[in-house]
Amino acid sequence: MSRISHSALRAAQRTPLHLRSAGRRAQPAPAADGWEPGYLRLHRSGELAARARAAMAALARCQVCPRACAVNRLDGGRGVCNSGAEPVVASWNSHPWEEPPISGTAGSGTIFFSRCTGKCCFCQNFSISQLGYGNQVSVQRLAEMWLELQARGCHNINFVTPTHFAPQIVAAADIAAAGGLRVPLVYNTSGYETVATLRMLEGVIDIWLPDAKYANDAVARRISGFPNYLAHNRAALREIFRQVGDELILDEQSIARRGMIIRHLVLPDGLDGAAEVLRWIATELSPRVHVSLMNQYFPTHQAVNDPVLGRKITPEEYEAALEAFEAAGLENGWMQEHEECAT
Ligand code: SF4
Repeated sequence: MSRISHSALRAAQRTPLHLRSAGRRAQPAPAADGWEPGYLRLHRSGELAARARAAMAALARCQVCPRACAVNRLDGGRGVCNSGAEPVVASWNSHPWEEPPISGTAGSGTIFFSRCTGKCCFCQNFSISQLGYGNQVSVQRLAEMWLELQARGCHNINFVTPTHFAPQIVAAADIAAAGGLRVPLVYNTSGYETVATLRMLEGVIDIWLPDAKYANDAVARRISGFPNYLAHNRAALREIFRQVGDELILDEQSIARRGMIIRHLVLPDGLDGAAEVLRWIATELSPRVHVSLMNQYFPTHQAVNDPVLGRKITPEEYEAALEAFEAAGLENGWMQEHEECAT
């Protein structure tokens, strides 16, 4: 999963991409309208607790992600993600450099989970995602972290690399809801998901931040280790779209309440297939879906000496991706400043 590093984003202000129709961008929802995040209703009805019990029990034969390892994570078993029954958190803090409706003025309350279902050779957070840096915590403690981030004024709780801990997130959501959590939950994912897991999260997650990383399965497998990425990613994007549609619902301060933002990281030599990815989003989902087009790639981890991935993208490569955004007919999103590109 391409993670947005704090250092990369400090210099990368996100600029609105509304190349065709600024008038169709997300509109703020009315203030004081009684809105509440979806997990509160599920908590009150008891459904959240029931989903948590079922999801945690299913870890006895884990099929949370498309790898379907079928290992017993409740009994010490470890699959490709090398994760057990309890969540492992690398860091949790207020993050100011997500997209404007996510970070707002007070920051997004990010929870960086350790490990990942992917193996990106260029991962900016490989010490977390692949080496496993972090601390094991109980589900109860995970919920307390969310409440502490809310108390610090964060606009939302933002799960970074969450897939392999999706059951634990549902369990923690029930505890946090009982403890007074009231901010939206954000699911910040590689987009390598099963539809079953996304349905388990339906109504729990308010805002989806899935990647659409590639347009080519061979590339996805070679540089990110994802088998059959396209089929799983596109099924996941269709499912998220079914759940929340193309409208990004904002509050009176233009902070997101509900919806989806698809992220796409531009890679050197067109490895990411931007034109095809963006065309697919516009034609198969909707041209009104919000897309965050990122230029922050820099070589790290195993990509440092790679003949293709061992450099930043050029301004021309990012410009080509912006032109592909427009050519696809997409209407809403964000771009990053050119200073982040190679010179
Ligand atoms: S979440 Fe981990 S153990 Fe479960 S199927 Fe995916 S990689 Fe395998």
